Amino acid sequence: VPVDLERMMCRLISDFQRHSISDDDSGCASEDYAWVPPGLKPEQVYQFFSCLPEDKVPYVNSPGERYRIRQLLHQLPPHDSEAQYCSPLEEEEKKELKLFSQQRKRENLGRGTVRLFPVTITGAICEQCGKQIRGGDIAVFASRAGHGACWHPQCFQCTTCQELLVDLIYFYQEGKIYCGRHHAEHLKPRCQACDEIIFADECTEAEGRHWHMRHFCCFECEEALGGQRYVMRQSRPYCCRCYQALYAEYCDACGEPIGINQGQMTYEGQHWHATDACFCCTCCRLPLLGKPFLPKGGQIFCSRGCSLGGDEASASDSCDSALHGLRPQDGRRAPPRHPAVARSISFADRPLFL
Ligand SMILES: [Zn+2]
Ligand SMILES: [Zn+2]
Ligand SMILES: [Zn+2]
Ligand SMILES: [Zn+2]
Ligand SMILES: [Zn+2]
Ligand SMILES: [Zn+2]
Repeated sequence: VPVDLERMMCRLISDFQRHSISDDDSGCASEDYAWVPPGLKPEQVYQFFSCLPEDKVPYVNSPGERYRIRQLLHQLPPHDSEAQYCSPLEEEEKKELKLFSQQRKRENLGRGTVRLFPVTITGAICEQCGKQIRGGDIAVFASRAGHGACWHPQCFQCTTCQELLVDLIYFYQEGKIYCGRHHAEHLKPRCQACDEIIFADECTEAEGRHWHMRHFCCFECEEALGGQRYVMRQSRPYCCRCYQALYAEYCDACGEPIGINQGQMTYEGQHWHATDACFCCTCCRLPLLGKPFLPKGGQIFCSRGCSLGGDEASASDSCDSALHGLRPQDGRRAPPRHPAVARSISFADRPLFL
């Protein structure tokens, strides 16, 4: 872990510890672990961690410790609470971020506490899995969720990402517990480019994802795409020019590139212009748009008859006579043996402004 990242995390963790509402912070970390739930006897610490998958137990210098660090950064993004970790913000955005962060700490943030479930009591039902927690079991309690609410240690996880809540830090909202990242996203959109929460009045939305207006740019050339036509590929926007240069497909019939404004047919890795001239029977040129067709040897045909004729034609170089000889006696077209309908690809339309 780079030094500045480590320093940032220490700050972050102490910040969360100051603000969280743990009922008992008196415990000290046992030296084998990078972190332990506070207030437990050593055998209870062992009992707690034995409930978790081995690779998620934060032993010092283990995959579990690296998992914990990754989760700290992922679940509690520093830029969700402090403007100094954000890309330059407008004054208004800084104010909104501060309010947002204060409000979440005041109303939603908590830290789970770990206790033995009292042996004298009949037990409880885990909020996550619905199974029994018996007297003598170790359980996690979250006071924001009400005093009866408890979880198995392995069940204390974010509703959205289903990861174990790192260091038991949770955000409670409407009966559910979330990690910091997903609680923030529950309230506000997150920019796909900079990973920061969007406080501006307007943003760009495409395919259910959001961007700051200033960050909705071509992934290749970084040209701003607000108000422009663009194409989404693997959740990233491209300007038409870059998309065409990088990803345009070539038509199997005419050999020309298929422009992003042109309709395209695709089947098993082959592409055609969605026109009668290009997407048609190789043998008789019958247009096949929206019709079943018979793929054979990388070519498409309207019928079994044409597909046989096609083979003969390329072998004998005499399409007409081969076709004539192969036509069914009663003159009706034989039905295709393996009909397939190509799906057509539609490109993203203009972006929607919220
Ligand atoms: Zn459970
Ligand atoms: Zn989450
Ligand atoms: Zn952004
Ligand atoms: Zn571009
Ligand atoms: Zn073509
Ligand atoms: Zn045909």
